[in-house]
Amino acid sequence: MSRIDGLPPLREVIAAHGLSARKSLGQNFLLDLNLTAKIARAAGTLDGVNVLEVGPGPGGLTRGLLTEGARHVLAIEKDHRCLPALAEIAAVYPNRLEVLEGDALKVDWDAHLTPPIRIIANLPYNVGTRLLVRWLTPRAWPPRWQSLTLMFQRETAERITARPGTRAYGRLTVLAQWRCKARVVMSLPPKAFTPPPTVSSAVVHMTAMPEPAFPADPEMLERVVAKAFNQRRKMLRTALKNLAPDIEDRIIAAGLVPTDRAEHVTVGGFCALARVIADGPGNAF
Ligand code: SAM
Repeated sequence: MSRIDGLPPLREVIAAHGLSARKSLGQNFLLDLNLTAKIARAAGTLDGVNVLEVGPGPGGLTRGLLTEGARHVLAIEKDHRCLPALAEIAAVYPNRLEVLEGDALKVDWDAHLTPPIRIIANLPYNVGTRLLVRWLTPRAWPPRWQSLTLMFQRETAERITARPGTRAYGRLTVLAQWRCKARVVMSLPPKAFTPPPTVSSAVVHMTAMPEPAFPADPEMLERVVAKAFNQRRKMLRTALKNLAPDIEDRIIAAGLVPTDRAEHVTVGGFCALARVIADGPGNAF
């Protein structure tokens, strides 16, 4: 029994329920309950907070979230083999854990949780970025969630938190940093997981800003940024030439340098350019 919650250690849970890890589901489990509690704490206070967790698996992080005081955890798990193990956790925390079996890309979780909401997960790597992009692009801002605390491959964490002028700086960086404060709060070596993945991992904590850091139309910003980074080695005036007939003038009007490359343009710079293109006559949209 675990000292923390009276439930069996995770190795026993995995053995009892035959949860051999499946690569196709991105299953790299965290078995150290001290570590999962630490990840839960990295999300900030959980008192009175409702949590969305994607991919609870055998429930290591889920147990961390509950012991750290989450009011309610909604956990979406695709692997039906994990459900009996999760039901055992739910029995120890009456009315605090709800498990939905399904694909997090398809389940509509909105109706199940009321704010304040934090999203906390050790994400399956194969769908992690897609889920993040979805959470970062809700129909209206601010989103229903107040923070995202997510485990990614180290390389993805670096893309989210990158600074201009670095190789990691790109489309995902601008999308994340336009409306969130993002930082890496924990780094984990492969051996922290069972089975160990081939690469290192990191936990990124993102808090939603009440308003975007700079004004811009989300769709226009996304188009400008996508075009700029699709040809990241080209100068802005070349990479963006189909966006507007007088793109070079507009780049200058936005305070940018037409011969610069996308990775040197700050988030504020991209927003200024999106505004100038949206405001000017004859843009391509
Ligand atoms: N949270 C557990 C932990 O930290 O030990 C497991 C994390 S493991 C990296 C990813 C989990 O996501 C697995 O349990 C896997 O079955 C689940 N999963 C994979 N794809 C999913 C999807 N599309 N929707 C929901 N869960 C998914």
